[in-house]
Amino acid sequence: MGNLEEALWTQENEQYWHGIAAGGTMKLFVWDLHGTLEKGNERAVIDISNLVLERFGHAERFSYGDNSRLYGRKWYEYFAWLFETPDHERDLALQDACFSLSESSPEIQCRWVRPTPHAPAVLREIKSRHCQVLISNTRAETLKVFIDALEYDDFFSSGNAFAVDGHTERPVNSKADVLADYLRDAGRGFDEIVIVGDSPGDMKLKAVAGGITYLFAHPDVEFRQCEPDHRIRDLRAILKRL
Ligand SMILES: [Mg+2]
Repeated sequence: MGNLEEALWTQENEQYWHGIAAGGTMKLFVWDLHGTLEKGNERAVIDISNLVLERFGHAERFSYGDNSRLYGRKWYEYFAWLFETPDHERDLALQDACFSLSESSPEIQCRWVRPTPHAPAVLREIKSRHCQVLISNTRAETLKVFIDALEYDDFFSSGNAFAVDGHTERPVNSKADVLADYLRDAGRGFDEIVIVGDSPGDMKLKAVAGGITYLFAHPDVEFRQCEPDHRIRDLRAILKRL
């Protein structure tokens, strides 16, 4: 085959496979929320933590600069890091107070939260052709608050948005359990699973049923340590998988 013929053949073939993808395949996109589909929650975490520290009479405070070191950890681990003396009961009590405060004052949670650039367009494009599911390490009460604040309610509802209360040492459900349940209940197979998140735990979801992993980091945040298939700083990179 000559170069021109080969080029034409490749082009035709690509069009053919693109046509198959548009018409016949169904993929599942698995999303993480915090740090992936939103930006700014890390500041609310600091605000709430400092309010609780004040109410409990502690002198210690977090700075917004502590975010880069702590973001992605469980809330009680923030306090374990802050105090010089270890006291797991104290940290759990502070964590509980943080959850109560964030549930009773959603305006603090939503003060800083914004959609990641291009996220709405990417979610809309996926919705038009494939399936997507949101699995977040937060509590059910707060997940709805975030979805509404980010105006993602067009993309995620109770059938495809799940909260995993990961803020305990031994969560009853893990993200992997939730994904396995979702796949079992879906009543169909998917031609491809695409996993997008900002943490090593998100990337491990590949172990549930395979898939291609994308580790996301906002442009001003370092990539977390792990071995994803791809590292991206712009969510539009996901559109290649459609
Ligand atoms: Mg995350």
